Amino acid sequence: MEEEQVQPVRPVVQEVQCRSVLGASGICDYAVNCYTGCVHGCAYCYARFMGRFHHVDQAWGDFVDVKVNAPEVLAKQIARAGLFPSGSVFLSSVCDAYQPLEEKYALTRKCLLLLVQAGYSVHVQTKSRLVCRDFDLLAAPNATLCLTITTLDAGLAARIEPGASPPADRLETLRRARAAGIRVKAFVGPLLPGLSDSQEQLSELFAALAPLGLEEVYIDRLNLRWGVWPAMKNLLGEADPQSAAATRAMLFDDHRSRAYNRWLRAAVRKAAAAAGLSASINVIL
Ligand code: SF4
Repeated sequence: MEEEQVQPVRPVVQEVQCRSVLGASGICDYAVNCYTGCVHGCAYCYARFMGRFHHVDQAWGDFVDVKVNAPEVLAKQIARAGLFPSGSVFLSSVCDAYQPLEEKYALTRKCLLLLVQAGYSVHVQTKSRLVCRDFDLLAAPNATLCLTITTLDAGLAARIEPGASPPADRLETLRRARAAGIRVKAFVGPLLPGLSDSQEQLSELFAALAPLGLEEVYIDRLNLRWGVWPAMKNLLGEADPQSAAATRAMLFDDHRSRAYNRWLRAAVRKAAAAAGLSASINVIL
């Protein structure tokens, strides 16, 4: 009997019109999201709450709304003097600004150009090598590029971040960005208990980051946000049911969660010292 071929799910892509694209943000003063949804489809994605409002019948990662008029709307918002005074802008807070559709639509590029020219302090965070296309804009003194690197293990990354660039490409992107004169940072996280947070894994990761000339490295752990545990539990259980049970106990118990934070802070300090990492370390726990 022939084995049935499982076809990958194609994301449902819809072009939409938006009325606003520059919005208040808890990360920077503002955030710009040119897409709703993200085909990187990370298992731990905190932005999956967007699925409560859009495409409720589809899994996170299976849909993207493309805000095709985002640059025109942003230009109008910037021009409304006084309403959006200059400040810091994060690209992007609920999608990856450089997910594959950006190659076709270039909405992030057009918005980035407007923001940089208007004097906003722009922070781009991505898991995609596609950002290399926009190094000419990111070399501006008011721009910073941050690559998220959760693990060096390409197999693990393919399971937890199936649509994103492989870890080696992200390291190479940081190398090239630094060589292009761009201010570079790394976001290490969320570290996944039992999958990517061992002392050995942290040491290897920091050793890879140390030569990159990073200004700052942010560290984050897995946190419970809307829909994250249901998405993560199968993945953790596949790897090791016992470890999944321990992670569940830690995440849902304040005392164990605080103990884990203390352990992780110490493990990060140890790994950073051993690697000789000169970047400032910002542990967000
Ligand atoms: S790249 Fe970011 S926004 Fe996209 S799925 Fe992954 S965590 Fe979510």
